[in-house]
Amino acid sequence: MRIDLHTHSRASDGTEPPGGLVRSAAAAGIDVLALTDHDTADGWAEAEAAAREVGLELVRGMEISTRHQGRGVHLLAYLPDPTYPPLVEQLDRVLSGRRARVPEMLDRLRALGVDVSEDDVRRAADGTAATGRPHVADALVALGAVRDRSEAFDRYLGAGRPAYVDRYAAPLLDTIRFVAEAGGVTVVAHPWGRSQREWPGEPELAELKAAGLTGIEVDHEDHTPASRRRLRALARELDLVVTGSSDHHGAGKVDHELGCNTTEPEEYARLLEAAAAAAAASGRDAPAVVRP
Ligand code: AMP
Ligand code: FE
Ligand code: FE
Ligand code: ZN
Repeated sequence: MRIDLHTHSRASDGTEPPGGLVRSAAAAGIDVLALTDHDTADGWAEAEAAAREVGLELVRGMEISTRHQGRGVHLLAYLPDPTYPPLVEQLDRVLSGRRARVPEMLDRLRALGVDVSEDDVRRAADGTAATGRPHVADALVALGAVRDRSEAFDRYLGAGRPAYVDRYAAPLLDTIRFVAEAGGVTVVAHPWGRSQREWPGEPELAELKAAGLTGIEVDHEDHTPASRRRLRALARELDLVVTGSSDHHGAGKVDHELGCNTTEPEEYARLLEAAAAAAAASGRDAPAVVRP
């Protein structure tokens, strides 16, 4: 059983359409795939159709941009009713924040002598609701200003770089609760991915667990072996489910090939058990896992 619980399609900043991603996963020998685009469920229907076609088990999810104690946290939400109004309201705020910052990033790029238009970004974003820095990066690549997304982040778009602009992110504790009320479960994505400072640490993870968090993503390309060991121990201590994933973005991110990290079947079973309990308690029409 190869279980990959975190991937992106063109519905956000991946480079494959949702159906193409599902077919790539089946071809790569993945048995269970979660589609977790940033802040949107827009890819779900196409992914579901493809999953039924190729006989792959599909978990519908999303990766929500949240904030806690002033820091960004990516929250994976699996199987929530995407029409639950408080969740919709938060996602709408994040999505409009994503759109609003584009002109500001382009102003900064222009001041640096790089002329990218909103149309260039729109073309790169190709209809996604979740316009992100990777689409600005793609526009820069198309103009020949940089070689690839990595160079665009390193030179211009990464945190602390000159064209970086922050955006709205949903309050983490509220979002954990809204997803539960929508009949879904939450897992913190790559908790120590961008910092070696081991935040969120034990007190924060205990607080998130008390707020309803189900798990943490431990096996992720951005975690060192030492971080994985430490996070696994914390998960055991706090009774959190341990997941693993590729965080695949198609050609948009190197070293994140489908299935490069996976989730243990027992941990996946625990996640689904928690989701079933949340769905039953919510009284909402939460989506089921798509089974071949
Ligand atoms: P945003 O959500 O618009 O702030 O952009 C963040 C996204 O950019 C993350 O979800 C990553 O997928 C992507 N990203 C961050 N750093 C890099 C990088 N160095 N190369 C490619 N993609 C990146
Ligand atoms: Fe991304
Ligand atoms: Fe992420
Ligand atoms: Zn991701």
